[in-house]
Amino acid sequence: MDSDSLVASNIRRLEGKVALITGGASGIGESTARLFVRHGAKIVIADIQDELGNSVCQQLGTQETIFYVHCDVTSDSDIKNAVDLAVSKYGKLDIMFNNAGVASLETVVVDADNENFKKVVDINLFGGFLGAKHAARVMIPAKKGCILFTGSVSSVLGSSSVGYSYVASKHALVGLAKNLCVELGQHGIRVNCISPYVVATPLSSKGMEKEKLESVAHKAGNLKGKVLDSEDVAEAVLYLASDESKYVSGINLLVDGGYSITNPAFH
Ligand code: NAD
Repeated sequence: MDSDSLVASNIRRLEGKVALITGGASGIGESTARLFVRHGAKIVIADIQDELGNSVCQQLGTQETIFYVHCDVTSDSDIKNAVDLAVSKYGKLDIMFNNAGVASLETVVVDADNENFKKVVDINLFGGFLGAKHAARVMIPAKKGCILFTGSVSSVLGSSSVGYSYVASKHALVGLAKNLCVELGQHGIRVNCISPYVVATPLSSKGMEKEKLESVAHKAGNLKGKVLDSEDVAEAVLYLASDESKYVSGINLLVDGGYSITNPAFH
């Protein structure tokens, strides 16, 4: 059954849940917010693109169901504020989707820009850590919750075209998810990663045009050359956020059409 049919048949898989989505103004985060709203969740979008984030919220609902907060994920106080706002406005936090991220295409280590390496790790890894830290703070007393990270195929593969800071940060997120799964399981909190292959979003198109993305996907034999849409990823996020996955924790769910299995050397 596709998602529309599920909604049409009144199966709202996140009814009554509250979700905070970092990087929710664009791409995978925006598509996830859209899908979560259709499945009955209340949403907080946390991002640094204020105009875009506010406009997404206006499209998707009213302040009663969705609102935007400016939040740089590298700032402890911004994340704390976003989590506390979710709780004060909607009463709790069930799902923390640590999704904000930036790309890096630096692939020549001897020419490394040290500051760029730190910046990528700061946003992709430390930002996810801060999100998990503050989500756990409010989820532990509630004795339940779901913490998610957006990894990448770069969480499991090295690459000749994706920057080493990106690959390192995305590998580390999987380790973080595993460790938090061990620690937080006793409090009823699940922790998982979702790792997509190339998705057509502003992040990937900064590095490549759509045609190039398609040609990469085609050469890799991945899903007959189809570039993933952010909606395809959102469906996987929905599964891990919903009670349908209530006994799933500590995994890295690859949403890559088998790419990482069939093409490890191509990456
Ligand atoms: P995107 O650029 O559309 O969205 C990323 C969002 O993160 C943007 O809205 C941006 O403003 C926000 N952001 C960036 N820095 C931030 C910060 N410091 N604080 C708060 N928000 C910040 O890109 P996307 O493709 O939707 O990326 C979402 C996630 O998916 C990222 O973690 C990315 O690494 C991952 N990912 C993307 C692809 C892809 O091919 N697009 C593949 C695998 C994984």
